[in-house]
Amino acid sequence: MLTSIIGFPRVGTLRELKFATEKYFRGEISACELQQTAKNIRQTQWATLKNSGLDFIPSNDFSFYDCTLDTAVLFNIIPERYKKLNISELDTYFAMARGYQGENGDVKALAMKKWFNTNYHYMVPEIEDTTEIKLAGTKPFEQFNEAKALGVKTKPVIVGAFTLLKLIRYTGSKQAEDFCDDIIKAYSDLLAEFSKLDAEWVQFDEPYLVHDLNKEDIALFNKLYNGIISNKKSIKLLLQTYFGDVRDIYNQLTAFDFDGIGLDFIEGKKTLELIEKNGFPEDKLLFAGVVNGKNIWKNNYKKTLALLSELKTKGINTVISSSCSLLHVPYTLKNETKLSAEYTSHFSFAEEKLIELAELKFLTDTDNFENETAYIANCKLFENRTNCYDDAVQKRVAGIQEKDFTRLPEFNEREKIQKKEFELPILPTTTIGSFPQTSDVKANRSSFKKGNISEKEYNEFNRKKIAECISLQEEIGLDVLVHGEFERNDMVEYFGEQLNGYLFTEKAWVQSYGTRCVKPPIIWGDVSRSKPMTVEWSVYAQSLTDKLVKGMLTGPVTILNWSFPREDISIKESTYQIALAIRDEVLDLEANGIKVIQIDEAALREKLPLRKSDWYCEYLDWAIPAFRLVHSGVKAETQIHTHMCYSEFTDIIPAIDQMDADVITFEASRSDLLILDSLKKNNFKTEVGPGVYDIHSPRVPSVEEIENAITKMLEKISIDKLWVNPDCGLKTRGETETTASLKNLVTATKNLRNKIK
Ligand code: GLN
Ligand code: ZN
Repeated sequence: MLTSIIGFPRVGTLRELKFATEKYFRGEISACELQQTAKNIRQTQWATLKNSGLDFIPSNDFSFYDCTLDTAVLFNIIPERYKKLNISELDTYFAMARGYQGENGDVKALAMKKWFNTNYHYMVPEIEDTTEIKLAGTKPFEQFNEAKALGVKTKPVIVGAFTLLKLIRYTGSKQAEDFCDDIIKAYSDLLAEFSKLDAEWVQFDEPYLVHDLNKEDIALFNKLYNGIISNKKSIKLLLQTYFGDVRDIYNQLTAFDFDGIGLDFIEGKKTLELIEKNGFPEDKLLFAGVVNGKNIWKNNYKKTLALLSELKTKGINTVISSSCSLLHVPYTLKNETKLSAEYTSHFSFAEEKLIELAELKFLTDTDNFENETAYIANCKLFENRTNCYDDAVQKRVAGIQEKDFTRLPEFNEREKIQKKEFELPILPTTTIGSFPQTSDVKANRSSFKKGNISEKEYNEFNRKKIAECISLQEEIGLDVLVHGEFERNDMVEYFGEQLNGYLFTEKAWVQSYGTRCVKPPIIWGDVSRSKPMTVEWSVYAQSLTDKLVKGMLTGPVTILNWSFPREDISIKESTYQIALAIRDEVLDLEANGIKVIQIDEAALREKLPLRKSDWYCEYLDWAIPAFRLVHSGVKAETQIHTHMCYSEFTDIIPAIDQMDADVITFEASRSDLLILDSLKKNNFKTEVGPGVYDIHSPRVPSVEEIENAITKMLEKISIDKLWVNPDCGLKTRGETETTASLKNLVTATKNLRNKIK
């Protein structure tokens, strides 16, 4: 069998591209130097792929920022406002990615959205009525030639026409339909060009096909590919899907004259069933996504070989492939020096996945593969993972009862009790938790990590920051205060580092967007808490003031969603384990006099299934109870807050209400407060703070602006339910703008309180 991958990470093994690009943004290196770094990364990568023995080596999977953006630019889908800047091609591209402010104008970036169900973000291309779609760029051809010159024959990869048209924002009156002919022509021209360059295969990525598709979607797909395929000439076309199965279009797909179809066997729950029921055409290659492109665990050869042999028995011509681009896993285990082999032998990052593909290829081609060392060693790994189980944790999870998911008394009664207990003014003011992580805060942490200062010195500094933060908030006149989160590097890492069952890497970065990478921790085993994690800080902060101080925790769903999860138990079970650990922390905070506790679920939406039909049964039906499990044990007098980032939950409002928090704050300031209508329509019971200003910009909102925002909110939310707060944590902001903004927030609220009286 042959082997293939869908794409490879591109920021460089040690994030070289990120650093070079940021230098370029700061004007420290030239465009030429940046291009050179990029070229080096590509060349090293092609060499790595070739040396691994991989048969289908991708090209054009490299990008300076994002491949969807690259595809838009390739086809001239560039809004006028960027063209008008009249700057170089590369700078126009970066202007679309991150905005431009300079001599030639002032434009905001394109919107950025989560790439399907990953933590990668793509730039949302915009089509205007005047946009003339045509093949206008050369990047895929240049990169194909660049590899060819190195003796590497590649399979160019490009976002497919259907997915592109589905992801685009149409800013004028024209819709996808109106651009079909031009798109077909542009993709056909692309194929013609590759045919001239003597390319054998071209891969079109069509992940959008794994959604629930309606008739119009299928008609659009058919129209596009009827057109494109009739122009494919000598090129072999690989139609690549990932992140799920293609149940709504399988039969149409296999009837088209594609030369290869890529299907996901990892996340595609129905992929095998579709093949068994409907067959797979003999004249095509099946690119079987059997090596997980999203997680970091070693492939289970026994299972994979059984599947591959089943496909072979059916007479299907199979290529062994990754389930999605390897973009979503870190580069290499080679740089992890601190984790012992006991752990790392179970992991497989992008480079190790290449070895897996080569071994699987070898094993499928070998009779009696059971006797081969690679096979035996792999089987052992799955028998030997023993130091990850904790009986006490498992017993506790098994013992969870229905009543543990229900907080009593019910919301309405609690609301009355809390109002009486706290005597907060109407429109209470608060913040989301973090205060500016200024350079002294970061320096303190890094000195401690390097061992330059003692734990005592580290803690003393943080206590000083907390004290300053409390008096600042008192001076500003906020009602519910926070300690400022100076001790936290990251809202998940901070907890992961203290929980049993978690592992941390040194260099295992994964691109999140553009030049931003994240280093998700790994859930190795059963998770538990051995001691309080935040109590000391919160209690200290509360001791400094008569006002209420909110305890600040991260919720179980977010902790799980921003980690690499286990594959030997379900994510539901892992989440319940984390929920119980955080529950203990909640109860400890309460026992130590903390009356308001916020449990952040910033990333609740992250793992929402792509198919709407799966939203509840696959995810929300356990994710929402997991949150309730965390807080159901507190007294009626204890007020539970939660916070969610991105207001993209208009469509799951009832589920959010079922979290049964007392107060929720979220980011609505950038979405024209559309979500408020949905809250009203759904009779949302939870008290809400929709965020009166956008913290993602250094701009200081005026008193008037905030008054207007609150007034607008009051049209949809009753006054006894509305909270006033910024829309997210303040850690990325500077001190001056933060103080000024919060002062305006309090003044605006007081003005309104006076008016309303
Ligand atoms: N409490 C966290 C903070 O204020 C929440 C961060 C987030 O929502 N991403 O930073
Ligand atoms: Zn947030």
